[in-house]
Amino acid sequence: MGFCAFVMILGVSGFSLLNAVASGAADNQVNSNALPIIDAHGHLNGDMSAERLVQLMDVAGVKSMVLMARYYQGARDAGNGSDEQALEFARRFPGRFIPFVAGQRGDLGGRNRHVWEGPTQIGDNFLRQAERKLQSGGYFGLGEFILRHYDYSNFGTQGGNDVDLPVNSYLMHRIAGVGVTYSVPVLIHLEAEPDKVTAMAQLLDTQRGTKLVWAHNCGRSSAQQIREFLTRYPNLMCDLGGMTATQQGGYGRYWPKQTPWIHLIEDGMGKLFPEVKALFEDFPNRFLLGTDAAHTPALDFYVERITRFRELLSQLRPVTAENLAYGNAQRLFGLK
Ligand SMILES: [Zn+2]
Repeated sequence: MGFCAFVMILGVSGFSLLNAVASGAADNQVNSNALPIIDAHGHLNGDMSAERLVQLMDVAGVKSMVLMARYYQGARDAGNGSDEQALEFARRFPGRFIPFVAGQRGDLGGRNRHVWEGPTQIGDNFLRQAERKLQSGGYFGLGEFILRHYDYSNFGTQGGNDVDLPVNSYLMHRIAGVGVTYSVPVLIHLEAEPDKVTAMAQLLDTQRGTKLVWAHNCGRSSAQQIREFLTRYPNLMCDLGGMTATQQGGYGRYWPKQTPWIHLIEDGMGKLFPEVKALFEDFPNRFLLGTDAAHTPALDFYVERITRFRELLSQLRPVTAENLAYGNAQRLFGLK
């Protein structure tokens, strides 16, 4: 969508966006509301239509969105998207979608721990299929791989399970290798509990060539810990998937529970914490935005989440804001 179209949309439905224009523009030179955005952490369920996603992206001023299918055929969940569906959306709306080879699959889930620990037919099948898909050139990443995840129920019946899978594992190393071969990032969801942080460091120590994205601001680590990781591992990036702290935000609050290892990026009123702001400014090329509407009902809050990200961007230097909004994602995925 061009800038003019976005202005027109602002004219009819962008009341809260306009408020953000006023507050953001006063503080520095960047008009965060004019920035195109690449949503680098988006999901795909079987009941999401491309038309609805494009309509929401147009309203929010989102240029492109990562699509990660959720292959869960369970009673609790209306997931069940597919990689082929993501590819079809991308073909139908050129430039608007960035399909991943999905990592959220029942057979790679918490009940199949052995699949991560050594060679298995399930693991081999997944890798073979992933390679075949990546060879087609239509996919731009691998993930999201859910390794440490807290259970929750949300929006009535839909939710997510408690997952605790090994990080420095046989399968994770093989997936990282596929990422290197096809030069695509590997996206990992891992709440940064102390032993997980140690394991992540071990994985990164041996996978220096993998473009690794640690979701949700590096597993909601502290700014200091993220600073250490980004310094030590130049191939690591953090996405800010769902890290806005709006009423219906996800990982941007102490949700689904509070632990001593969860750190937020903003105060709940749209103001970045000073140490987080300093982190973004010191590592302007290492962060990505993302809405993380994992369950279809969360799309109702899509525009609100992007609007909040624009507010947060308005507190950064213009060059940093541009990098977080789209520049870093553009380079990571090799987009024009
Ligand atoms: Zn996640």
